[in-house]
Amino acid sequence: ATPTAVIVGTGRGAELGVLVKRAEVFERMERLTTIVLDKTGTLTLGRPTVTDVIPVAGWSAEELLRLAAAAESRSEHPLARAVIEAALENDSTVPSVERFEAFPGRGVEALVAERMLLVGTMRFLQERGVTVEPASEDAAALEAAGKTVIAVAVDGTLAGLIGLADRPRPEAPTVVRALRDRGLRVVLLTGDNERTARSIARAVGIDEVRANVLPDQKASVIRALQEEGQIVGMVGDGINDAPALAQADVGIAMGSGTDVALEAGDVVLVRPDLHGILVALELARRTLATIR
Ligand code: ADP
Ligand code: MG
Repeated sequence: ATPTAVIVGTGRGAELGVLVKRAEVFERMERLTTIVLDKTGTLTLGRPTVTDVIPVAGWSAEELLRLAAAAESRSEHPLARAVIEAALENDSTVPSVERFEAFPGRGVEALVAERMLLVGTMRFLQERGVTVEPASEDAAALEAAGKTVIAVAVDGTLAGLIGLADRPRPEAPTVVRALRDRGLRVVLLTGDNERTARSIARAVGIDEVRANVLPDQKASVIRALQEEGQIVGMVGDGINDAPALAQADVGIAMGSGTDVALEAGDVVLVRPDLHGILVALELARRTLATIR
């Protein structure tokens, strides 16, 4: 590779909002066979809003939301922000938190007004011995609509469900189609549940889904694809995605994402627009054509 062509390539990329950190990335980009896309914040806008509050008997929707918001008040997760906003819109005062612990990919545990709260996936509550079956039909209905479900337990007993919706980025279907037209295999990777993931995947034209993947397992999913012989590009935005971005043959970080993801990526999309993936692929093709 002549250094000149590579500098031209990276310079042109910067103009297009695609930063390529190392020249050898172009060659790996040309050989990609699979693109893995994170769901929240990558394929979707990453701005979930509360759409449903479903208390179980004995609880009011307002109290459910208020307690959930209190438990989430120390979390930096986008879902937490949405729950707090919804509670504040209700004009609720959010009680303060005495103890708090976050479980990445699962949820949070907090002590609020002398009550132990668990707020997170159905699976997380189940692991902690909470009976969630009475809500499973409601949860399934929310998930089928592509919504993320968080369950709330108070002192070990289910208090209700909160449904949140996060829209796919408007360009997602076009970009997925263009990737597939190039012969690339496209996979959706998420910590969210299977049904929600499938619903979002269907909306954007992806048929391969890896759901319920805990943050520390995302990199293993990439490794498994590589062991199958795939050359993998991973697109992500969150702290959770950093190990997977590093494991991938080409890590592509959404510029709207966290600093950790930006550091782990080989390519940074300055604008939060999935078209950047296509720009990066095209840039690699042209740059290598100039060199050869
Ligand atoms: P993704 O892979 O889609 O970016 P995460 O790995 O961050 O998602 O989280 C996976 C799932 O864990 C979420 O869909 C949610 O159900 C649950 N979860 C994670 N953090 C929280 C939180 N702070 N409050 C409630 N639920 C949470
Ligand atoms: Mg994400």
